[in-house]
Amino acid sequence: MKSFLKTFFFCCLLMLALPAVQVHAEWFSEDTQLMGTSVSVELWGEDEARSRQLIAAVLAEFQRLDLMMNPWNPASELARINREAGRAAVVTTPEILWVVERALYYSRLSEGAFDISFASVGQHYDYRQGRAPGDEVIARDRDNIDYRAIELDLDAGSIRFAKPGLQVDLGGIAKGYAVDRGIDLLQRAGVESAVISAGGDSRILGDLGDRPRTIGIRHPRNRNEYAVMIPLADTAISTSGDYERFFMQGEVRVHHILDPDTGRSAQGLQSASVLAPLAVDSDALSTTVFVLGVERGLQLVNSLPGVDAILIDGDGKLHYSAELLLSTRP
Ligand code: ADP
Ligand code: MG
Repeated sequence: MKSFLKTFFFCCLLMLALPAVQVHAEWFSEDTQLMGTSVSVELWGEDEARSRQLIAAVLAEFQRLDLMMNPWNPASELARINREAGRAAVVTTPEILWVVERALYYSRLSEGAFDISFASVGQHYDYRQGRAPGDEVIARDRDNIDYRAIELDLDAGSIRFAKPGLQVDLGGIAKGYAVDRGIDLLQRAGVESAVISAGGDSRILGDLGDRPRTIGIRHPRNRNEYAVMIPLADTAISTSGDYERFFMQGEVRVHHILDPDTGRSAQGLQSASVLAPLAVDSDALSTTVFVLGVERGLQLVNSLPGVDAILIDGDGKLHYSAELLLSTRP
């Protein structure tokens, strides 16, 4: 009884004292260039030093994953896999195995529209210099775009390419994975509201206190305009567009998302945005849907629970997945 009274009085005291304690929280943010794109981390925190430390930890995580998964850096683990896995199985990191397994899942789901071995041909494109491979190069290497020739042995922790000329690039999924790792890190540290973006891949943790955050989908033909604004909370959203890395070859827009069937830039859509709980999934799916086009893309998205899409076709017309259409009806 005595201890009950003690607790009771302590609680009363605490209730009296609480209104006097001013909890001051604010948004802290940082933008930088990492993984070949602009990365931003924004979080709601009470302590500036700790918030800045957490942002630095997220950026360090991006750097770590870039060192592991950037195929253009000869010192990366992925570059080593590209050099050696065509000859023998390569024992590699659990994270690469996990991301490749996820990528193969989307390859099977899309019957090869998403395929990290697009790089077998993709390596011959240079968007900055405006160079695309000729027909002979594509004819020679297109057979090496084949996700079924990527073999994982999860018990051994290894990866092998059944075709010696096969090359992989995780550019369509790795940024989403890094965004998820960053959000995990913040959640484990007790952060409840945050946004992490890496190029076209973002994940929103929580909301803006009393309302969702508004995210804009960029207009594919006018950099300074948004095509759509949507209120979002607790979701990931990724956009794949033909306007990020491209050059014109006559009338044809040569850009960085390849149709594995042709080895050429996928035509049909200007932009594909996908919403999903995790950024690794929204990232892979936005690239997948971009390749599939309006009809097959929406069919795939509508078959996946908890996944939505907003597409902009070649004429600039908007298309929505079934659940979004339902939720926008009055
Ligand atoms: P961004 O890199 O601009 O965020 P995306 O998420 O759409 O855009 O990814 C495009 C990247 O995906 C390309 O730069 C390339 O690395 C990779 N990629 C291109 N075509 C394919 C494909 N068919 N399957 C898987 N990955 C692809
Ligand atoms: Mg993507």
